[in-house]
Amino acid sequence: MSSNQTPPGAPTRPDPVFTPDAIFFWEGAARGELLGQRCADCRKIAFPPRPMCPACHSVRRETVKLSGRGTVASWVIPRHPAPIGFPEAPIVALIELEEGIRMVSNVIDVAPADMKGGIAVEVRFAPTRGGKAVPVFAPVKGVARG
Ligand SMILES: [Zn+2]
Repeated sequence: MSSNQTPPGAPTRPDPVFTPDAIFFWEGAARGELLGQRCADCRKIAFPPRPMCPACHSVRRETVKLSGRGTVASWVIPRHPAPIGFPEAPIVALIELEEGIRMVSNVIDVAPADMKGGIAVEVRFAPTRGGKAVPVFAPVKGVARG
Protein backbone atom coordinates (compact mmCIF):
# COMPACT_ATOMS: atom_id res chain seq x y z
CA MET A 1 0.00 0.00 0.00
CA SER A 2 1.14 3.52 -0.76
CA SER A 3 1.26 6.30 1.79
CA ASN A 4 0.96 8.96 -0.94
CA GLN A 5 -1.65 11.61 -0.28
CA THR A 6 -4.09 11.95 -3.14
CA PRO A 7 -5.47 15.47 -3.68
CA PRO A 8 -9.29 15.67 -3.51
CA GLY A 9 -10.86 14.95 -6.88
CA ALA A 10 -7.68 13.46 -8.34
CA PRO A 11 -7.98 10.12 -10.14
CA THR A 12 -7.45 7.17 -7.82
CA ARG A 13 -7.83 4.41 -10.41
CA PRO A 14 -4.63 2.34 -10.68
CA ASP A 15 -2.57 2.62 -13.86
CA PRO A 16 -2.81 -0.25 -16.35
CA VAL A 17 -0.28 -3.05 -16.16
CA PHE A 18 0.44 -4.56 -19.54
CA THR A 19 2.66 -6.71 -21.71
CA PRO A 20 4.71 -5.45 -24.69
CA ASP A 21 2.06 -6.85 -27.05
CA ALA A 22 -0.49 -4.44 -25.62
CA ILE A 23 1.55 -1.21 -25.72
CA PHE A 24 -0.41 0.08 -28.73
CA PHE A 25 -3.70 -0.58 -26.93
CA TRP A 26 -2.74 1.51 -23.89
CA GLU A 27 -1.13 4.26 -25.94
CA GLY A 28 -4.43 4.47 -27.85
CA ALA A 29 -6.42 4.57 -24.61
CA ALA A 30 -4.27 7.45 -23.34
CA ARG A 31 -5.27 9.36 -26.53
CA GLY A 32 -8.96 8.42 -26.15
CA GLU A 33 -8.96 5.72 -28.84
CA LEU A 34 -10.09 2.12 -28.43
CA LEU A 35 -7.76 0.05 -30.59
CA GLY A 36 -7.74 -3.60 -31.52
CA GLN A 37 -5.36 -5.96 -33.21
CA ARG A 38 -6.38 -7.54 -36.50
CA CYS A 39 -4.63 -10.38 -38.26
CA ALA A 40 -3.24 -9.10 -41.57
CA ASP A 41 -3.82 -12.52 -43.15
CA CYS A 42 -7.22 -13.84 -42.03
CA ARG A 43 -8.56 -10.43 -40.86
CA LYS A 44 -9.83 -11.77 -37.53
CA ILE A 45 -9.67 -9.36 -34.61
CA ALA A 46 -8.11 -10.83 -31.47
CA PHE A 47 -8.34 -9.60 -27.91
CA PRO A 48 -6.29 -9.37 -25.80
CA PRO A 49 -3.41 -8.51 -28.16
CA ARG A 50 -0.95 -11.35 -28.63
CA PRO A 51 2.07 -12.19 -30.78
CA MET A 52 0.30 -14.75 -32.98
CA CYS A 53 -3.17 -14.94 -34.52
CA PRO A 54 -5.18 -17.57 -32.57
CA ALA A 55 -7.12 -18.46 -35.74
CA CYS A 56 -4.42 -18.91 -38.42
CA HIS A 57 -1.12 -18.56 -36.48
CA SER A 58 0.04 -15.63 -38.60
CA VAL A 59 2.37 -13.18 -36.92
CA ARG A 60 1.38 -10.36 -39.28
CA ARG A 61 -0.73 -7.94 -37.26
CA GLU A 62 -2.29 -4.57 -37.85
CA THR A 63 -3.91 -2.07 -35.53
CA VAL A 64 -7.51 -1.08 -36.13
CA LYS A 65 -9.76 1.43 -34.42
CA LEU A 66 -12.72 -0.24 -32.73
CA SER A 67 -16.25 1.18 -32.61
CA GLY A 68 -16.31 1.32 -28.83
CA ARG A 69 -19.92 0.11 -28.93
CA GLY A 70 -21.15 -3.12 -27.44
CA THR A 71 -23.40 -4.83 -24.96
CA VAL A 72 -22.93 -6.15 -21.43
CA ALA A 73 -22.54 -9.94 -21.64
CA SER A 74 -22.25 -10.43 -17.88
CA TRP A 75 -21.19 -8.47 -14.83
CA VAL A 76 -20.33 -8.61 -11.13
CA ILE A 77 -19.65 -6.19 -8.31
CA PRO A 78 -16.60 -7.61 -6.51
CA ARG A 79 -17.01 -6.45 -2.89
CA HIS A 80 -14.49 -8.77 -1.22
CA PRO A 81 -11.68 -8.07 -1.03
CA ALA A 82 -12.19 -4.32 -1.20
CA PRO A 83 -10.90 -3.02 -4.54
CA ILE A 84 -7.70 -0.98 -4.49
CA GLY A 85 -8.00 2.55 -5.86
CA PHE A 86 -11.78 2.77 -5.91
CA PRO A 87 -13.95 4.56 -3.32
CA GLU A 88 -16.80 2.13 -4.14
CA ALA A 89 -16.59 -1.32 -5.67
CA PRO A 90 -16.77 -0.82 -9.45
CA ILE A 91 -19.09 -2.77 -11.72
CA VAL A 92 -16.85 -5.27 -13.49
CA ALA A 93 -18.38 -6.39 -16.75
CA LEU A 94 -17.65 -8.56 -19.73
CA ILE A 95 -18.36 -6.35 -22.73
CA GLU A 96 -19.17 -7.89 -26.10
CA LEU A 97 -18.05 -5.37 -28.71
CA GLU A 98 -19.70 -4.95 -32.09
CA GLU A 99 -16.54 -6.40 -33.63
CA GLY A 100 -17.26 -9.73 -31.93
CA ILE A 101 -14.51 -9.60 -29.30
CA ARG A 102 -15.04 -9.50 -25.57
CA MET A 103 -13.15 -7.48 -23.01
CA VAL A 104 -13.38 -7.19 -19.24
CA SER A 105 -13.92 -3.60 -18.19
CA ASN A 106 -15.91 -1.42 -15.80
CA VAL A 107 -19.38 0.00 -16.35
CA ILE A 108 -19.83 3.57 -15.11
CA ASP A 109 -22.72 6.04 -14.86
CA VAL A 110 -25.23 3.40 -13.77
CA ALA A 111 -26.48 2.66 -10.24
CA PRO A 112 -25.80 -0.93 -9.12
CA ALA A 113 -29.57 -1.42 -8.64
CA ASP A 114 -30.17 -0.43 -12.27
CA MET A 115 -27.42 -2.60 -13.70
CA LYS A 116 -28.48 -5.50 -15.90
CA GLY A 117 -27.08 -7.71 -18.61
CA GLY A 118 -27.69 -6.96 -22.25
CA ILE A 119 -27.64 -3.17 -21.98
CA ALA A 120 -26.05 -1.21 -24.80
CA VAL A 121 -22.85 0.55 -23.79
CA GLU A 122 -20.21 2.72 -25.38
CA VAL A 123 -16.62 3.38 -24.44
CA ARG A 124 -15.37 6.20 -22.22
CA PHE A 125 -11.87 6.75 -20.94
CA ALA A 126 -11.25 6.95 -17.20
CA PRO A 127 -8.10 8.75 -16.02
CA THR A 128 -5.69 6.88 -13.78
CA ARG A 129 -3.57 8.28 -10.96
CA GLY A 130 -0.41 8.09 -13.07
CA GLY A 131 -1.83 10.26 -15.86
CA LYS A 132 -2.86 7.39 -18.13
CA ALA A 133 -6.36 6.26 -19.07
CA VAL A 134 -8.28 3.01 -19.22
CA PRO A 135 -11.33 2.22 -21.35
CA VAL A 136 -14.57 1.85 -19.40
CA PHE A 137 -18.13 1.65 -20.66
CA ALA A 138 -21.26 3.73 -20.01
CA PRO A 139 -24.87 2.97 -20.97
CA VAL A 140 -25.93 4.44 -24.31
CA LYS A 141 -28.50 7.09 -23.42
CA GLY A 142 -31.88 6.67 -25.02
CA VAL A 143 -31.40 2.98 -25.76
CA ALA A 144 -31.64 1.44 -22.30
CA ARG A 145 -34.74 3.36 -21.19
CA GLY A 146 -37.59 1.71 -19.32
ZN1 LIG B 1 -5.17 -14.91 -38.69
